[in-house]
Amino acid sequence: MTQSPTSIEQAPEPQPAASPLTRLGEARWLLLTALFAALAAVLLYDVPSSGAFAFLVAMCAVAGFVPRRAASRRVKLNAQREIRRMWPGTGMKVTLDALPTPCFVADGRGITRYVNRQAQASYEGVKPGDPLSFSLRAPSLLEAFDRVCSTGDSERISWIEKVPTETWYEAHIAPIYMPGNTTPEQGAGLPDFILVAIQDLTENRRLERMRTDFVANASHELRTPLASLTGFIETLQGPARNDPEAQDRFLSIMLDQAGRMRRLIDDILSLSRIELKAHVRPVSTVDFAEIIRHTADALSPLAADMDVSIRVQLPDGPVRIKGDRDELIQVTENLIENALKYGHRGQFVDVELSELIDVDEHTWQLSVRDYGEGIPPEHLPRLTERFYRVDVESSRAMKGTGLGLAIVKHILTRHRGRLEVDSEAGEGATFKIKLPASEESEAIS
Ligand code: ADP
Repeated sequence: MTQSPTSIEQAPEPQPAASPLTRLGEARWLLLTALFAALAAVLLYDVPSSGAFAFLVAMCAVAGFVPRRAASRRVKLNAQREIRRMWPGTGMKVTLDALPTPCFVADGRGITRYVNRQAQASYEGVKPGDPLSFSLRAPSLLEAFDRVCSTGDSERISWIEKVPTETWYEAHIAPIYMPGNTTPEQGAGLPDFILVAIQDLTENRRLERMRTDFVANASHELRTPLASLTGFIETLQGPARNDPEAQDRFLSIMLDQAGRMRRLIDDILSLSRIELKAHVRPVSTVDFAEIIRHTADALSPLAADMDVSIRVQLPDGPVRIKGDRDELIQVTENLIENALKYGHRGQFVDVELSELIDVDEHTWQLSVRDYGEGIPPEHLPRLTERFYRVDVESSRAMKGTGLGLAIVKHILTRHRGRLEVDSEAGEGATFKIKLPASEESEAIS
């Protein structure tokens, strides 16, 4: 950081004492008035001239040698002004504390002069009086700070920190000119302070990346069945034009591919609808036990096809939770359907709803357990990512889109719920969801 020529870090120096001659010059009008008064007293009131002379000498002595209060007050005021230029005032501090971003105020030598509340929370151990570079180490930021000190022009820069995790930052560095100081456009003056406001852009960048990945993945998923449909149409128009047997076979594959496209589009639309409502909590109270019973019944034909029996264990009475009935059906359906599709070898799927009462939490837990092949542990953290599949071929064979668990996660977020997965390869899988219980008195809609 450059040593900028500003002197605001040093203590203000007292002004040198004025000489008796200067003081006499400053008091000239007073002394002149005293001279006229003395003359008038001698001429008009017969005052002895020695007395008048002594009076004038005394006046000159007082004016020349006794330090005046106004001058020392000016010295004090100047000192106060210097201090104001060293330390930001209360107005600046409360305004910075009201801002949502971490902000630092430093002087032109790079010494931290104020750290707002957000910055104190995000950058531990940073204190006024320390060099700014103790807390902010990014070289590009410190270089930009030096440029702002010397040019007086504000700058916006961004950088990435790789350790401990990849984090994107953007900083706005702006000069602050206190009243009385002039900006470079007005002719001179170095900034009194430099404001460094830092924003963490990691979440925005992650969302941007997710959005572009999603569009790329969705187009890729749709392109495959579309290419297959186009190929079969060309075959039906050409080589298979007069082959009824091949036509039947191809048409049934085409129907499958069209179905796959429809399921993908349905899931994509469903996901975007849920995302739109992500921040709106459901208001109606529903009976979660009834929803599970309804879903298990609806999936019984699939279970019969797969040769699996669904064992359902529910409390006797209604289970009240705040929720959207259709969305909770979608969650339950996705979990039981996955257990049937990927765990059918185990022949049983256990669906259980139980109450968890903790000191400060009252929740209902739905657990869906299968006894199939299970999921290797390295896949567990990524299961709820869009289009993530442990085995793409087996998912496609089971009419999967890779969006089911992403939809489950989004619905649960909206319902303030949580998803946990326990599984080991060869041991089956247990998907548990926890949802906050609703008051007993609330009517089910
Ligand atoms: P899909 O539409 O492919 O089923 P999901 O998002 O529902 O997509 O599931 C993602 C992946 O998680 C599936 O492709 C599958 O590999 C794996 N999976 C989900 N549930 C189970 C389960 N009960 N047993 C084994 N693997 C599972």
